Amino acid sequence: MSTLSSQLTSIRCATALTPSGWQRNCVIKFDQSGRIESIRENDDSAVDLCLEGTVIAGIPNLHSHAHQKVITGRAEHRVAGQDDFWGWRELMYRANASLNPEQLQTIATYLYIDMLQKGYTAVAEFHYLHHRPDGAPYADRSEMSARLLNAASEAGIAITLLPVLYCRGGFNNESVQHAQHRFYNRSDDYLSLLEDCHSLCGKDPDRSLGFAAHSLRAVSPSDISTTIDNAGDMLEGAPIHLHIAEQIREVNDCVEINGARPVAWLYDQCEVTDRWCLVHATHVDPDEQMLLAKSGAIIGLCPTTEANLGDGIFPAATLMANNGFLGVGSDSQVCTSPAEELRLLEYGQRLSLQRRTVLVPDGVGSNGRALITAAITGGNRARGERVSGLQPGARGDLIEIGSDHPEFSGRTPDQILDTWIFSGPDNPVQNVVVGGKHVVHDGVHLLMEDASESYRKMIDALDLT
Ligand SMILES: [Zn+2]
Repeated sequence: MSTLSSQLTSIRCATALTPSGWQRNCVIKFDQSGRIESIRENDDSAVDLCLEGTVIAGIPNLHSHAHQKVITGRAEHRVAGQDDFWGWRELMYRANASLNPEQLQTIATYLYIDMLQKGYTAVAEFHYLHHRPDGAPYADRSEMSARLLNAASEAGIAITLLPVLYCRGGFNNESVQHAQHRFYNRSDDYLSLLEDCHSLCGKDPDRSLGFAAHSLRAVSPSDISTTIDNAGDMLEGAPIHLHIAEQIREVNDCVEINGARPVAWLYDQCEVTDRWCLVHATHVDPDEQMLLAKSGAIIGLCPTTEANLGDGIFPAATLMANNGFLGVGSDSQVCTSPAEELRLLEYGQRLSLQRRTVLVPDGVGSNGRALITAAITGGNRARGERVSGLQPGARGDLIEIGSDHPEFSGRTPDQILDTWIFSGPDNPVQNVVVGGKHVVHDGVHLLMEDASESYRKMIDALDLT
């Protein structure tokens, strides 16, 4: 497969959401690296593409494990003794035990195209399936990482590759389990992997690199700090991700062994700044909630996966009230739509607080617009992008919501976003542009048919028993 997207120099938008509000009949120009050079209203110059719908900046997916796609819908049968997160993890380990590099690329290509069609324009891939099934490294240590980068390039999605450090089996420095040998790296081997990934990303404007520690179970705070220090320039300014407090059991284990809850312990041991993305900060007490907001760290939430795994509900209303940052991700891939993630994020808060319009700050008005804006800002920060939204200097990532759908009739632009998030239609994303390249045309990615066929054949041949 080859990428069929075309590089654009300019787009005319009938209606576009910029940081200063809705603009009408504006022309967005891109520079050679695919970033936004200018946005001008009432500009009559000729353009490469005209979008008549409602245009917003693309939404980054800040947390994805591509390989988990193969078990979606396969872990929904109740099995005695396996009706919790840890039981699901065993199923996931078993299913992923045999995936090879080619299969991973097939999965990721299909998955990333699906994400694009639903409005994600970038993915932060939290990648830990590094080695062969027996735990031995591939001849090329970064083989699996390269497959993910290739899949992203084929699909045309921007990627932040987060090679995951995984160096122990629990808070007490236990050895890793057999199934975790595919993830395990010693510190020096991890740095070699990071070097390879750094050169694979190179100067490609649609690829970037970050650091990830799997969790505090799998990496101690001192190993996080030492590894980042040793990585030097490779991680300068780069985002730092980790799973932090997804399950009560890990919170209790952390308290028992380290005398503090995971978030409190992390902040005590490491200097957590706005470069950090704390994924699933689900279980936090009031003091920890204040630490999160004050540090400027981004809270990575994956509401559908968190619901699917019975994790719990993060107190997002408090974070937003304290001017904190959050973004959303597809995580286990049970849902690949940013709109559905944002809907469940808001609904979880409404159900627990018995209120409406919870996550929209006072004075903003539209709940859908507030959720989308938060996800764009937080998602970009989690990828190391400091300028986001439709404005000069930001990446040229945007999506068009087809506002001629009957469900949107009579709606203002804000109400179109509210309708998209809270009421459907299923998928009104029409055109998608990533780094100035037109990758989804009238709702369809030109490679979706081929990618679907390859994915279907691969899954049919996969032994998941
Ligand atoms: Zn995860």
